[in-house]
Amino acid sequence: MKTVIPKERILFHEPMSRHTTFRVGGEAEYLIMVEQEEELTSLIHYLNQIEEEYFILGNGSNLLVGDKGYRGVVLKLAGPMEEIRVEDTVIRAKAGALLSRVAASAREAGLCGMEFAAGIPGSIGGGVVMNAGAYGGEMKQIVRSVRVLDQEGHILILDNETMAFGYRTSAIKNRAIVVLEVTLQLAEGKPEEVGAKMEELAGLRRSKQPLEFPSAGSTFKRPEGHYAGKLIMEAGMRGYRIGGAQVSDKHCGFIVNTGNATAADIRELIEEVQERVQERFHVSLEPEIIFLGDF
Ligand SMILES: Cc1cc2nc3c(=O)[nH]c(=O)nc-3n(C[C@H](O)[C@H](O)[C@H](O)COP(=O)(O)OP(=O)(O)OC[C@H]3O[C@@H](n4cnc5c(N)ncnc54)[C@H](O)[C@@H]3O)c2cc1C
Repeated sequence: MKTVIPKERILFHEPMSRHTTFRVGGEAEYLIMVEQEEELTSLIHYLNQIEEEYFILGNGSNLLVGDKGYRGVVLKLAGPMEEIRVEDTVIRAKAGALLSRVAASAREAGLCGMEFAAGIPGSIGGGVVMNAGAYGGEMKQIVRSVRVLDQEGHILILDNETMAFGYRTSAIKNRAIVVLEVTLQLAEGKPEEVGAKMEELAGLRRSKQPLEFPSAGSTFKRPEGHYAGKLIMEAGMRGYRIGGAQVSDKHCGFIVNTGNATAADIRELIEEVQERVQERFHVSLEPEIIFLGDF
């Protein structure tokens, strides 16, 4: 790997608690900061050849990594892989760019359509994989195309339809396909109006979500016809704790790390919540967050 990547960008036994918004998770055997598409292509080719497992990390904001860590290679897009370009009403963002930074570029350029995403703490790569959304908006509405690298090393351009966006999912979720760049089609607006909308939504987040504690956002997907948070509250689990993990008393749809949670605490609490909601309401809660590694 050192022939492809400078050694200072190859981290060995890297604690994943440093790379996830839950602030938990054991060590990844390797974590590599990838700055160029060519590096990524060579690395993936090599890792496939030696049959080594790898995981593409965005901003780790929808991820629970086990306490025993991940025996594989975590690839994190960095530096030039986070660039953003604005051309008229189109934004081209490299997959590692944070949604908040892309949204700030849209605001500065007076482009509207992505206000909903300004407060989502993920990368745009993770955002399209998950079809991230909030307050009536979702990536599906603004993505024109996505440039990806497939497992065979081919670079493909997938249009919006091919991405088959659904509720917190897309055609490339759980597939060995890496997002390289996302092209967004936005509309002309006024910077102050775009900014005001973002401020309004940020205020709503602050008042409703437990942003003062580490979490991965909504733990569960919204079950059809229900709200996960409401079911959890009505199952009597508001504030319920296992070790350092807690069902937030501000928003029951969030499980938070109160400071010293382990990944095992969080996972156990997720299972307990699922069981109680199933028992009480016969509704099955499906986690929105992604699990990685050994617990
Ligand atoms: C406080 C808080 C609030 C949140 N609010 C929202 C919200 O309002 N709406 C919402 O939808 N989500 C929300 N989230 C969840 C999360 O921010 C989103 O799901 C986000 O899209 C995840 O992006 P990420 O870059 O952090 O991805 P990660 O968590 O790093 O990864 C998620 C998945 O995407 C894959 N992935 C990441 N980058 C790439 C890439 N370049 N190529 C291929 N696969 C990739 C990973 O392999 C993994 O499978 C919130 C989270 C927190 C902590």
